[in-house]
Amino acid sequence: MTNESLPAVSFQGVTRRYGLVTAVSGVNLDIAKGEFFALLGSSGSGKTTLLMLLAGFDQPTEGRVMISGTSVSDVPPHRRSIGVVFQNYALFPHMTAAENVAYPLKMRGVGRSEREERVNAALSLVNLTDRGASYPIQMSGGQQQRVALARSLVFGPDILLMDEPLGALDRRLRDQMQQELKRIQHELGITVIYVTHDQSEAMAMADRIGIMSGGELLQVADPETIYAAPSSHFVARFIGECSILRVTSLDRGKGYEIAGARERLPNPATAPFDIVVRPENVSLLPFDEARSNDAFAVPATIRDVTYLGSGWRVALELGDGQSLLANVMRGDLLAGSLEPGKTVKASWVPASVAVLPTEGLP
Ligand code: ADP
Ligand code: MG
Repeated sequence: MTNESLPAVSFQGVTRRYGLVTAVSGVNLDIAKGEFFALLGSSGSGKTTLLMLLAGFDQPTEGRVMISGTSVSDVPPHRRSIGVVFQNYALFPHMTAAENVAYPLKMRGVGRSEREERVNAALSLVNLTDRGASYPIQMSGGQQQRVALARSLVFGPDILLMDEPLGALDRRLRDQMQQELKRIQHELGITVIYVTHDQSEAMAMADRIGIMSGGELLQVADPETIYAAPSSHFVARFIGECSILRVTSLDRGKGYEIAGARERLPNPATAPFDIVVRPENVSLLPFDEARSNDAFAVPATIRDVTYLGSGWRVALELGDGQSLLANVMRGDLLAGSLEPGKTVKASWVPASVAVLPTEGLP
């Protein structure tokens, strides 16, 4: 069935337990056709288990997995129209690149001439047209990963699953492969589910990101929303650097007070809240800088300064003892005079702050 309006993939109340370990817990998630979806989480958070349940190499303890609106509990892996790429390539060492890529076609009983045609097309798609006769050991890590990608795409799957596929490559190759993966996904219009523990990789590639922790899907949103409006302390800290600050609610959530300074919120908060401030949104001013009465600025003492090349990361302590991070760029007011022990003013605009349900702070 290929109804375009149905999600490509739907996890419905999916739980997978191994004895006492709950690897995946109550996951509900729809992924649209043609979407590039990143599953992001640290090691052991349940990402691979979720992929294995979708690919059909494992079965849920509870709930069900749907592909294009049909439950697949009785569908074996090779009939789910899913290609899989793992971090460790898993190429057959005794087969050439072309033979590796041809393997899934052979398994599906595709005849020799069609096989050759499709292997050539797949090798060309990953820019390896001339390397069909090479054995894996004669190829670089990046080239081997391309062969694995060609092998996963050669039979024309609707869905491509990738489990930390670029983890073994160095930074430059990884950046290059990221762009190429996006190009290939565009060319084929295929649905991609991409597992990574690297937040910058997820941000750079995905239409939407799902954050996993302890088997649970904590938040699903596009990269901008996850960054600007994280739903919990965990998500805020997992995606980029930030300061999470305890504040006193003012005027029934329309604003807050922190270390004696008062500021509005862009939208009133309805429950007890903490605020998230990203370092790039904090400006530092000289302590005696005259400010108009309504401008928000809170006194802070510099504790630590780290040179980043593009500027400086400054760790500050507020009057109430809380820690705050700020980025100072070359050319900023205080760029030449950042010394530990110095007292300054820190300021940010209302719209740059996100509100989180309050949690115990470390
Ligand atoms: P990730 O891919 O995010 O690193 P996994 O899905 O591999 O996480 O694992 C999630 C949790 O489930 C871990 O605690 C892991 O030890 C456990 N787990 C995964 N597979 C098995 C298994 N076959 N038997 C027992 N425990 C498992
Ligand atoms: Mg894994």
